[in-house]
Amino acid sequence: MSNTQVALVTGANKGIGLQIAKDLAARGFIVLVGSRRLGAGQDAASSIGSNAHALQLDVTDHASIAAAAARIRNDFGRLDVLVNNAGIAHAGDPNASFEEKLLAGRPSTASISETRAIFETNVFGVIAVIQAMLPLLRQAPVGRVVNVSSTVGSLTLQSDPESPVRAIQSVAYVPSKTALNAVTVAFANELQGTYVKVNAVCPGFIATDLNNFRGTGSVAEGAREAVRLALLGADGPTGTFSNDDGVVPW
Ligand code: NAP
Repeated sequence: MSNTQVALVTGANKGIGLQIAKDLAARGFIVLVGSRRLGAGQDAASSIGSNAHALQLDVTDHASIAAAAARIRNDFGRLDVLVNNAGIAHAGDPNASFEEKLLAGRPSTASISETRAIFETNVFGVIAVIQAMLPLLRQAPVGRVVNVSSTVGSLTLQSDPESPVRAIQSVAYVPSKTALNAVTVAFANELQGTYVKVNAVCPGFIATDLNNFRGTGSVAEGAREAVRLALLGADGPTGTFSNDDGVVPW
């Protein structure tokens, strides 16, 4: 078993996930760079350094998840941190513009199959990965699960006429993050009284592929709150939802 803490970041081959992986590696973790495309994960791991290792992991593929969990147990013997970062905002034409992506989620016209695909990754994928990694996380001195959610999923903000998040009218991505928040609370409640902490974060509106680089923040800013929660000690909170500015309402 490794004496060094081990962190797994899903969807870490690019964007916010890659930055979270870099930041955790810089803090001394062995970082497992989850990527559904192994080659992309290997390139990302090489860009981080010798304490980063690519791990093939498609969060919608149960065989891939089971193989990843088995490899972590066999090769590293421990898992201290799981960052559920992999996510999609759109499952249609990969060349769609930001405006087309937004329109694809419009409640009155969104495709059910696309909505299902988004939930498959952003919600069921997270549940499946947590379940597979939980036996290892329970053995860690302090197991930390960080779910990368979004303020757009806040029902409090979505029902506030003054909130800017209401500009995103979506029956797919937005409710998937609301469901992810509920999943966060459900795991935190079941694991209350154990050493496993489960929290949700919003990275902010960050320039990545997800929004055709229309975000206004950098990946360094986007990674910050997730990294803070990944470093929590035994006295840290569980069942919270926060961003760089503090608590986000559910
Ligand atoms: P991104 O650059 O598009 O990165 C998304 C990552 O998820 C990629 O590595 C992608 O892999 C991976 N992924 C997608 N489906 C996957 C699957 N089935 N299995 C494994 N990996 C998968 O977007 P990002 O902005 O960094 O997004 C990271 C997280 O932040 C997401 O959960 C997103 O919802 C959340 N978020 C982002 C913003 C923002 O403004 N950017 C705001 C709020 C929340 P491929 O390269 O193979 O596609």
